[in-house]
Amino acid sequence: MDKQQEFVLRTLEERDIRFVRLWFTDVLGFLKSVAVAPAELEQAFDEGIGFDGSAIEGFARVYESDMIAKPDPGTFQILPWRAEAPGTARMFCDILMPDGSPSYADPRYVLKRILAKTSDLGFTFYTHPEIEFFLLKNKPVDGTRPTPADSSGYFDHTPQNVGMDFRRQAITMLESMGISVEFSHHEGAPGQQEIDLRYADALSTADNIMTFRLVMKQVALEQGVQATFMPKPFSEYPGSGMHTHLSLFEGDRNAFHEQGAEYQLSKVGRSFIAGLLRHAGEISAVTNQWVNSYKRIWGGTNRTAGAGGEAPSYICWGHNNRSALIRVPMYKPGKVGSARVEVRSIDTGANPYLSYAVLLAAGLKGIEEGYELPAGADDDVWALSDSERRAMGIEPLPQNLGEAIELMERSELVAETLGEHVFDFFLRNKKQEWEEYRSEVTAFELRKMLPVL
Ligand code: GLU
Ligand code: MG
Ligand code: MG
Repeated sequence: MDKQQEFVLRTLEERDIRFVRLWFTDVLGFLKSVAVAPAELEQAFDEGIGFDGSAIEGFARVYESDMIAKPDPGTFQILPWRAEAPGTARMFCDILMPDGSPSYADPRYVLKRILAKTSDLGFTFYTHPEIEFFLLKNKPVDGTRPTPADSSGYFDHTPQNVGMDFRRQAITMLESMGISVEFSHHEGAPGQQEIDLRYADALSTADNIMTFRLVMKQVALEQGVQATFMPKPFSEYPGSGMHTHLSLFEGDRNAFHEQGAEYQLSKVGRSFIAGLLRHAGEISAVTNQWVNSYKRIWGGTNRTAGAGGEAPSYICWGHNNRSALIRVPMYKPGKVGSARVEVRSIDTGANPYLSYAVLLAAGLKGIEEGYELPAGADDDVWALSDSERRAMGIEPLPQNLGEAIELMERSELVAETLGEHVFDFFLRNKKQEWEEYRSEVTAFELRKMLPVL
């Protein structure tokens, strides 16, 4: 037994923890949990715990439904909302096949696989997410509009505002679970919040995002409201993005940074961005996986500076250009990790493991193939006409999930990164969502057509 495992077993006893939840994530990015008694853990560390995976989205075909969850002791945390004795703790798990090999259906393994390749190339991949979401008074499921929990706006600081109390409690809870928060503020829409996590290696960040979503929902319930990570719950307000800052390190040197180069961007940094741009369309179904994701991308509301409605619609990069898909933030001398690129397409309803895997794969491809970075866009690309954009070589992101699926289906990069099983399951599942949506007669059509036809 290693030191981390011993630490977990000792803490369980000292803190009188009676329930241990083993967490993992399905292919669509939903958190799954199986609870075990502490007495089972020693064996779980050795061999894992068997469970029937056939009912989990994307996991097993019925004939191979036995799966094994093996807890990662480095992710042990006590759940702060279940902290009084007898308490509850959690660990993330790796999912294994009955023969002990990693499950090809496990999103955490998909990310680990490309991280291993990244480390073979001599790099470590860091991510820093800005997570936006809404607090709502209610979550109606009959298709009627929800009500935001407050009526504040961008960076508003209003006493007795649900958001402020909420953020304080939520951040305290995150920090007590070892998740460091850098910034938090009210976002542009009523009820909309943003909390930015400190940068960490991509696997920890993805685990942290899964924890984050649960913590936000938990704190919301305690305050009599509801949290949602739906990318665009309101037509008239901006949606919720999960802008993510990416960087590669070689040892403790930021590989994107080169003193004196244009925008302080090294060749590695430039090719990485070029990769993100060239493959942006085909990875879109992963980073923006819902029908609703494209309502955010093409929502077209509130696009004035500071209003926070700035979801990218076009594939281009810019230096501090908030209309661009990729933004290279201003260089801050002396700040570690400051040479980084911000990807602004990914939304808050994405599976973080799969999304970080495809973003990383696209960037690495750029480095490996030595892609040249096209010219940056300094203009507000929403304000240009289609023909101006065409002349500058700026393509749109997919218009909807259907288009995104078509691009993904032809993508070798995505197939290779996700592996055959996740790639096929994902496409099948998303095609079904798109077909269901496409055949639905919507309130929009009824409202527009019945009065005139
Ligand atoms: N809510 C915007 C989006 O959907 C982002 C606003 C911001 O710049 O933080 O991406
Ligand atoms: Mg924001
Ligand atoms: Mg941002």
